[in-house]
Amino acid sequence: MDAIETESVTVSYDGVAAVADAGLSVREGELLALLGPSGSGKTTLLRAIAGFERPDSGTIRIAGREVVGPGTWVEPEHRRVGMVFQHGALFPHLTAAANVAFGATRERSGELLELVGLAHRARAFPHELSGGERQRVALARALAADPAVVLLDEPFASLDPALRESLRGEIADILRSAGATALLVTHDQAEALSLADRVAVMRAGSIEQIGAPDDVYLRPRSRWVAEFVGEADILPGTASGGIVQCELGPFPAATELDGAVEVVVRPEHVRLEPSRPDGQGTAIVLDQSSYGHDHVTRVRLPSGRVLRSRRLGFATWPDGSAVQVAVETPLGVLPAADRHGATAR
Ligand code: ADP
Ligand code: MG
Repeated sequence: MDAIETESVTVSYDGVAAVADAGLSVREGELLALLGPSGSGKTTLLRAIAGFERPDSGTIRIAGREVVGPGTWVEPEHRRVGMVFQHGALFPHLTAAANVAFGATRERSGELLELVGLAHRARAFPHELSGGERQRVALARALAADPAVVLLDEPFASLDPALRESLRGEIADILRSAGATALLVTHDQAEALSLADRVAVMRAGSIEQIGAPDDVYLRPRSRWVAEFVGEADILPGTASGGIVQCELGPFPAATELDGAVEVVVRPEHVRLEPSRPDGQGTAIVLDQSSYGHDHVTRVRLPSGRVLRSRRLGFATWPDGSAVQVAVETPLGVLPAADRHGATAR
């Protein structure tokens, strides 16, 4: 039994679908990240699961119980969901302990503050807490009523980057040690990939792909997912019998595609080496950008296509250098965008 199941859920505002035929399942005990660009319908789907939006159609089950369906509607307070919003939304006139106790006994409230590492701040009011502390209190409060699932809507978005990174690790640890099932909404790819057991990628109201972080990253199902979840350069190629041929050479690929394909090249899989004396297969360095811990080199391939290479450390190739391009597999393979030949099975 899954903790959350949505089937063909559609939610519209003024006749325009914000969520369109969305199917999603969250397994018990997992942390699933719902990842998508701003406006893709993440908050709306979360609110529909919580009971704050009424779908036009579709079914939602929480812990095996139908809460939305033809002829079924369960009020939000009876759905056994805990919510954490972008801004903690704590009661400003209540202490941290009282905020948590709002949904629990005093004893349980003490345990939960301990769980989120804030037992010593029990008597503080929200304005006396840092942004990160407020979010941890909000999580303790969401856990207080012993929910079947915790829904978190961009809970780190209002924090500065350094704090965001440490808090998201802490929140994931807390959720795991509480044995909670969580659905975390984010537009941040790194956040989704680093925290979640599985990632559901949402695009224009629908779930485009769902899978383990590595799976989504290394085997994107569409060009859109490839380009949204990380950096990607796309090269045309041909697949046959598990071998894909493209400008970078032949390489094995776990694909059943046959015919024209698109090869997804992640910049960190591209290595540049000194060019061969005969100049065969040479690429030309266009420019380099340094990011401190790594740098990106753009090269022009013999075909004229531009490819990026992301490597650790500082830039080394002068602009205009002739280099040899090597790639580390596995590379993602997609059916070609045009209609010539590729057959997906
Ligand atoms: P996300 O959380 O992925 O950024 P939202 O679910 O907030 O996306 O929004 C999805 C779409 O629905 C957007 O086009 C947004 O403008 C629209 N929308 C969201 N809430 C409302 C609302 N209360 N009334 C009308 N349109 C809305
Ligand atoms: Mg949102």
